[in-house]
Amino acid sequence: MPFPHLLNPIDLGFCQLKNRAVMGSMHTNLEESENGFLKVSKFYQERAEGGVGLIITGGISPNKSGIVAPDRAIMSDIEDVANHQIITSAVHQYDCKICMQILHAGRYGYHAQQVAPSAIRAPISPYSPRALNLDEIEQQINDFTNSAVLAQKAGYDGVEIMGSEGYLINQFIVKATNQREDQWGGNFENRIRFPLEIIKRIRKATGNQFIIIFRLSMIDLIEDGSDAKEVVQLAKLLEQYSVNIINMGIGWHESRVPTIAASVPRGAFTQLSKNIKQHINIPIIVSNRINTPELAEELLENDVADMVSMARPFLADSHFINKVTNNTPERINTCIACNQGCLDKIFIRATATCLVNPRACKETEFNFSIAANSKNLAVVGAGPAGMAFAKYAAKRGHKVTLFESSNRIGGQFNLAAKIPGKSEFLETLRYFEASLPQLGVEIILNKRIEKDDLNRFDEVIVATGVHPRTPEILGLDNLKVVSYIDVLTQKVTVGEKVAIIGGGGIGFDVALFLAYQNSDSDKTSHKDRRNSRIENFTQEWGIDMTVTHSGGLSDKMITPPGRQITILQRRKRKPGADLGRTTGWVVRQQLRNKNVKMSIGVQYEKIDDKGLHIILRGKHKLLEVDNIINCSGQIENNSLAKQIQNKPCHIIGGALNSKGLDAERAILEAAILAQSI
Ligand code: FAD
Ligand code: SF4
Repeated sequence: MPFPHLLNPIDLGFCQLKNRAVMGSMHTNLEESENGFLKVSKFYQERAEGGVGLIITGGISPNKSGIVAPDRAIMSDIEDVANHQIITSAVHQYDCKICMQILHAGRYGYHAQQVAPSAIRAPISPYSPRALNLDEIEQQINDFTNSAVLAQKAGYDGVEIMGSEGYLINQFIVKATNQREDQWGGNFENRIRFPLEIIKRIRKATGNQFIIIFRLSMIDLIEDGSDAKEVVQLAKLLEQYSVNIINMGIGWHESRVPTIAASVPRGAFTQLSKNIKQHINIPIIVSNRINTPELAEELLENDVADMVSMARPFLADSHFINKVTNNTPERINTCIACNQGCLDKIFIRATATCLVNPRACKETEFNFSIAANSKNLAVVGAGPAGMAFAKYAAKRGHKVTLFESSNRIGGQFNLAAKIPGKSEFLETLRYFEASLPQLGVEIILNKRIEKDDLNRFDEVIVATGVHPRTPEILGLDNLKVVSYIDVLTQKVTVGEKVAIIGGGGIGFDVALFLAYQNSDSDKTSHKDRRNSRIENFTQEWGIDMTVTHSGGLSDKMITPPGRQITILQRRKRKPGADLGRTTGWVVRQQLRNKNVKMSIGVQYEKIDDKGLHIILRGKHKLLEVDNIINCSGQIENNSLAKQIQNKPCHIIGGALNSKGLDAERAILEAAILAQSI
């Protein structure tokens, strides 16, 4: 059997899970949309069909005060049950269990009705919470219990109690947010009374045949959080209080440490699960930055945990586990941890989707059914837009030929993958390389297409991407000036002092590339490289993985110095304003760690052998740099499209519009066109 540990069933005594894969909780905002429960049921149903053993739903609040944001779903009334039955019956058509997560946001609620153990405002919230009184604490516990009972009535196999990430229960557990002096605060025993009481009452009300999972914060990553001894003590008590499974939670949302961004190395926090596992006898789920079956298998084999939770990877590929079972892991559409389609969307209260899988959360919109007329299609350009179009069009039964002028498919993803934290992009290339031939797409590399090459096709899809934009600066032909493409492909050697013209996404990426160049150590084996990345990551962000210090933060944040880099931009807005909402802060901090300077409102005068002459805040300045890198935007590469007049020609991705271009838009445009052609 392939992946024997991952596919091994697990027995909870009263029920069996068919494998060790858990789809972790993700709020998608689908519930809140029109016909939301129908849409979310299709979303979960497809994942159940795709082979996962256990699904944990997005967080549902037990009452009004606990919602994360206005209009979020609540399970507090018998009338709420019917909607959830749509979900459970859809999932139970397959051999898959589903647990509802009960999440009370506490002081993380984005509304004025926030409550918390103590009236201490979260640094990431504009609202101040009201401290709960004794009666209200009782009521909160009863509301959790009521919610679990209703979940059981709705057909859920169990509940997950959200006790981590800094939400209400976690706020009770740690000193930083619980400064009460009654029986619910003070010493650790008092502070953990709230979660234990919730578990006790839920177990009593739901009986012994109902799964209770507790999401336990194993490292809070805030000052005055729990320490390792306290986490172990709580884990043992949760077991005694009849919790069936402990799920790993990492870091509070307000933490200064990234926990799931792409710059977090794969499996960075898994050691914490291993530490707890040796103290308990119930199954433990490991999570955070696990996105491949190979890593999941390795963790289970090495006894790091009993089960593996992946959340975003199931957005990226609903049939992840079926592909593992069929021993075709190379065909998994891997989550690249970009957050662009999912968390960044949730942040702006839009519905989540996925950059690499635009069908995620749009299961009722995109079906890619067989086309009435199969056409002979030429796709020119094998970047994200061209590759995605080829995939969906081939699925619909069209005959697709994909042309690429270079020697590899992927387009700009080949450059993006060179950036520290973006090596996951290579997984997307591997996915298309494995899947496109299997779908019957003919790939022709090293062929720059001209209009006359397209005569035999019914229709043409131009996905030729973009060219770098050349700004108007005197002396741009100076030898010091190099293109970002030559820098990233290492065709040129860059000196120690560098100026980057352009503070957009590519300017920031090039700065990261140059700042961290050669820091990936000379370790050769895959595992060595991962371990070395984890070591660098913990040092850079000041993480104490032993959690000896309360909260697991260490005072030392070590970043070896790099080049002297300055990012310059004409516009006066914040540099990197277009970076991802949930990841931009990480990139900015990394560049600060490396002492990268940023200047806005820059006027460029000229470039000569001395360096770059600019005017900044009315003053003339010379930046004596070794190299100047042009990252001042891109323009559409659409000359081919303009020449095709004798047949239908469709333009997608960068070739259509370079403004605000990213891969998510390019792939979505490809999917929309393929659905209609
Ligand atoms: P391209 O990727 O540019 O692909 C076009 C392809 O067409 C190329 O392979 C080219 O060789 C080929 N071609 C051109 N003309 C012809 C011809 N006549 N015949 C045959 N082939 C031809 N986006 C994100 O969403 N998130 C990120 O984090 C991110 N990071 C990035 C980091 C870097 C360093 C770079 C450079 C880009 C990054 N991007 C990112 C942008 C993203 O890669 C692009 O938005 C995306 O690749 C655009 O896709 P496309 O298919 O339209 O064009
Ligand atoms: Fe993963 Fe990015 Fe898709 Fe989110 S949008 S699931 S992070 S690939």
